[in-house]
Amino acid sequence: MLLRSEANCLVAGAGPVGLTLAYLLGKSGVRVTVVEKEASLQKDYRASTFHAATLDLLEPYGISEPLVAMGIQCPVVQYRTWADGVIATLDHALIAGETRHPYRLQCEQFKLSEWLLQALQAMPNVEVRHGEELVGFTMTDEAVTATIGAAPGTRKETFSYLVGADGGRGVTRRILDIAFEGFTYPERILVLGTRTDLPRLIPGLAMVNYVADPEHYAHILRIPDMWRLSLPLTEQVDDVQALDSDYIRSRVEPLIAGFDVRDIAVKKVYAVHQRVAAAYGKGRALLVGDAAHLNNPKGGMGLNGGLHDAVSLFRHLSAHWGDPATVLKQYEAQRRPEAIQAIHKHTQANYNALKGVGVQRAELVERWVALERDKAAQRQFLLDASMLSSLRRCGMLE
Ligand SMILES: Cc1cc2nc3c(=O)[nH]c(=O)nc-3n(C[C@H](O)[C@H](O)[C@H](O)COP(=O)(O)OP(=O)(O)OC[C@H]3O[C@@H](n4cnc5c(N)ncnc54)[C@H](O)[C@@H]3O)c2cc1C
Repeated sequence: MLLRSEANCLVAGAGPVGLTLAYLLGKSGVRVTVVEKEASLQKDYRASTFHAATLDLLEPYGISEPLVAMGIQCPVVQYRTWADGVIATLDHALIAGETRHPYRLQCEQFKLSEWLLQALQAMPNVEVRHGEELVGFTMTDEAVTATIGAAPGTRKETFSYLVGADGGRGVTRRILDIAFEGFTYPERILVLGTRTDLPRLIPGLAMVNYVADPEHYAHILRIPDMWRLSLPLTEQVDDVQALDSDYIRSRVEPLIAGFDVRDIAVKKVYAVHQRVAAAYGKGRALLVGDAAHLNNPKGGMGLNGGLHDAVSLFRHLSAHWGDPATVLKQYEAQRRPEAIQAIHKHTQANYNALKGVGVQRAELVERWVALERDKAAQRQFLLDASMLSSLRRCGMLE
């Protein structure tokens, strides 16, 4: 049986989840190889929200402090409509007794990745190889042999474990033949990053805002680099049209008077899914992050959930190195139900409310006003939204 000191782990994918797992394993002395098919770290503007639960969870490992230093602390979240302005303001001060981080932290996900990459480069037992792709693997009871592709060919390397942190389209889950259960929304989302100071155009705007509207439901967020706005795209609009300045102008100007498309610094279209892997691995190959679950971004939970996976998997690997069946059983039992009960439940409820699925606008406004007034209900909502309920339920936080 393999001793922990002899163990080595292959992490496929140098996204924020793969790098976090590599960091945790590397710090504990395990030999780790990370392969990333892209030539360098991707500066992509996807996740920007880090929740209180995640910051509490990562704090003992030394990740939260630098992350907080790079981000913006946002204690307040606004719920709005385009026509009425602010309907309700929720304040994380209500959960200040429950967390050391009573706010949403807004920080670009690639800044966490950059910090992790730098920390990994200082670890002699960790190697991060950009421009190398996991193309296949085989497994025995004792080891995983991975085929890693890099120009001009591929080569085989053997590891004690393979962790697929290779995102929603990752090859690890497909090779394991694990179903990705769930659905893809008919609409995609258009995410815009602008240098315009949006509070100048939208009076009283908070740093984190959700806007309800059947056609133009949105979130508007401040991140350190810029303001971000997301809008839904129907199937009738293709990606080329969606990114065209005239189209963007026609969508945004009626909602935000004075919005100047020339200030747009980032624009991208994303498909949106609600999916969870039928199993979180097989044998010595395990799945984390987007490779294991995808969700709509209303609530900012996907990456947070992936980081929770990374910590959970690290803890179970550390406790049961020589026993992959126990690692998988305990890891999956801790994390998979949360992808459904916390992440999917909350993000789908947010989507329904913002789009007005099964709820009339007047009723929604009444519901939000009541939530702002009823401090006990608001406190419970914030415990769920900040994922503290989730990490407590699955035994990862006190
Ligand atoms: C618009 C938008 C906004 C979002 N906002 C939030 C938010 O505020 N908060 C939040 O928690 N989440 C948010 N998310 C979700 C979040 O971005 C993802 O959950 C997160 O990026 C997942 O990280 P990951 O490391 O699991 O996967 P990824 O970031 O997808 O990284 C996977 C990596 O694996 C690499 N790879 C793939 N295949 C291979 C292979 N065969 N070999 C080697 N490397 C490979 C890829 O190149 C990539 O670098 C948002 C998503 C979107 C689209």
